[in-house]
Amino acid sequence: MNHLLSERIINLTPSPTLALDSKVKELQAKGIEIINLALGEPDFDTPAPIKNAAIRAIKQNFTHYTQTAGIPTLRAAITKEIKQETGVSYTISEVIVGNGSKQLLYEAFQVLCDKGDEVLLPIPTWSTYAEQIKLARGVVKTIPLAPPFQLKASDAEKHITKKTKILLLNSPANPTGAIIEKKELEKIAMLAEKHNLWIISDEIYNKICYEKPAVSFVSIDKKLKERTIVINGVSKSFAMTGWRIGYACAPQEIIQAMNNLQSQITSNASSISQVATLQALIGNQSCVLKMRDTFQKRRDMLIKKLEKLPRLTVIKPQGAFYLFIDIKKLLHNSCPASAQWCEELLEKKHVAVVPGEAFLYPGFIRVSFASSQKSLEEAIIRIKELAS
Ligand code: PLP
Repeated sequence: MNHLLSERIINLTPSPTLALDSKVKELQAKGIEIINLALGEPDFDTPAPIKNAAIRAIKQNFTHYTQTAGIPTLRAAITKEIKQETGVSYTISEVIVGNGSKQLLYEAFQVLCDKGDEVLLPIPTWSTYAEQIKLARGVVKTIPLAPPFQLKASDAEKHITKKTKILLLNSPANPTGAIIEKKELEKIAMLAEKHNLWIISDEIYNKICYEKPAVSFVSIDKKLKERTIVINGVSKSFAMTGWRIGYACAPQEIIQAMNNLQSQITSNASSISQVATLQALIGNQSCVLKMRDTFQKRRDMLIKKLEKLPRLTVIKPQGAFYLFIDIKKLLHNSCPASAQWCEELLEKKHVAVVPGEAFLYPGFIRVSFASSQKSLEEAIIRIKELAS
């Protein structure tokens, strides 16, 4: 008998944060007020000039299909942006715009992976990568990292085999906020050359860095452009998650292949969102800095309070807006897993956080500080109650 669902779909793990969100909604529907620190999106409104540009686009009937890869003015703005950030020049035919960076990551794995190709994935990690690699028939090879979770070339080297095709970099990282050191990127660049690896460098949090900026992989050496797909987008830095715009910069052959794939699945990203993104990139950047400064204040406040809880180990994030906290000392026979501890926190204290299991790293929780100071303070009180 034919199976109803394909093997790939049966083996697919749905997004754990979205699953948690439906549990939150279920409790909210019962009238329970939840402090939701599980979501990976800024709590700020999209800045007004960006929204106004979109409204103008609608009024001017800019509401039709665009080129699959995105409108040329937006792609030109992206080349300017990446030149400023990395010193590397891209042409607009080396850029593609899609429905969030998630789609571009999916396309990148589809374009590069053949059955059995190994992809090195440092963990803890955002679970989407692993699922997308599997969908592309690649093989996930995890690189377990220890706190403070900054990838070193020597960690990666141990896992390279003849089948290794791609190394995934995510700096600053979700869920740890860790930034890869420049000297390690230099060594990773040598590894990539030596073993002929492709690098997918997800830099979506690169505008949300605290003490020091994150170095982009391609900025290490201009020739790295030939083996790198840089992924970025406006969701996190401009509070634009719902507009669904991300982009990729890579050699033209790769972009053309991604474009061919995208032309058969979603075509272009929303014309209106593309105009909004253009405004975000060329407009005044003070909104980005303001949001980053607010995140930093919240991070520092949270760390100060959490450090007073002796059974929690907090690792200070250098970027992004998450704390990845070691809760192993809180686990015991009747609550042996971080996933279960998170369920208890949600059911008993009405605070939603994501368990480390969702990042292939049990024993930890991810607390998003993309939430108001007031709700963060209240959440700490409740976490403290469950943790003591
Ligand atoms: N990359 C990382 C590391 C993320 O955490 C996320 C979202 O959580 C994304 C990419 C996807 O963002 P978007 O598809 O909204 O651009």
